[in-house]
Amino acid sequence: ELTLDLLAAWLRRYAELVGDQKAYLTELDSAIGDADHGANMARGTAAVVEHLDEANTVDALLKKAGMTLVSTVGGTAGPLYGTLLMRMGMNTGAVTELSPQEFATALRAGLDGLIARGKTELGDKTMVDALTPGLDAFDKALADGGDLAAAAKAAQAAAAAGRDATEPMIARKGRASYLGERSRGHLDPGATSAVLLFDALVDVLG
Ligand code: ADP
Ligand code: MG
Ligand code: MG
Repeated sequence: ELTLDLLAAWLRRYAELVGDQKAYLTELDSAIGDADHGANMARGTAAVVEHLDEANTVDALLKKAGMTLVSTVGGTAGPLYGTLLMRMGMNTGAVTELSPQEFATALRAGLDGLIARGKTELGDKTMVDALTPGLDAFDKALADGGDLAAAAKAAQAAAAAGRDATEPMIARKGRASYLGERSRGHLDPGATSAVLLFDALVDVLG
């Protein structure tokens, strides 16, 4: 089960990984964006960590984390990650733990919300290109009888492959889309930070 403590640990670990990769994320964004993705995400996730102890239920934890990202991160990605977490929180209820299936369902609702808000689809060279295959693999692993740790590992591998597949893509959303053909040949920064969500999950479950 994903307890409140484990969910908080997940977001704390995500903040740590983002902090560790801040310079790299910014470097990726300097190639096809405005060189702020690492700073944006580090600032936002650090703010999320400050509020993790305030919530007593899963929905409150996720909603607060999402709202914090929306309000502290300028730019595109922060509010989209914020939407993901807020939508997750709107689909869990005032419980203190989630089953693996409930977590997967909440994550799917969050991803659907992100996609709606970003007006984007698979193949646009965004974070969605890592999140969607990651979550699909998570669902499949659970359906095949895998436990939470196995599902997280499957999701991590699929998300990383999805991230790598953004390199040859032409961006159709966000600042990178202004580059057109010249956006080809670079990893998408948001897809790269998205994989860290699954990396963090694997880390806290292992
Ligand atoms: P900004 O582009 O405003 O500076 P960031 O640099 O923090 O914001 O984030 C850029 C990332 O946001 C991109 O790499 C991409 O993954 C993601 N992104 C941009 N536009 C969209 C969108 N419409 N839908 C989903 N993700 C998007
Ligand atoms: Mg940027
Ligand atoms: Mg920016």
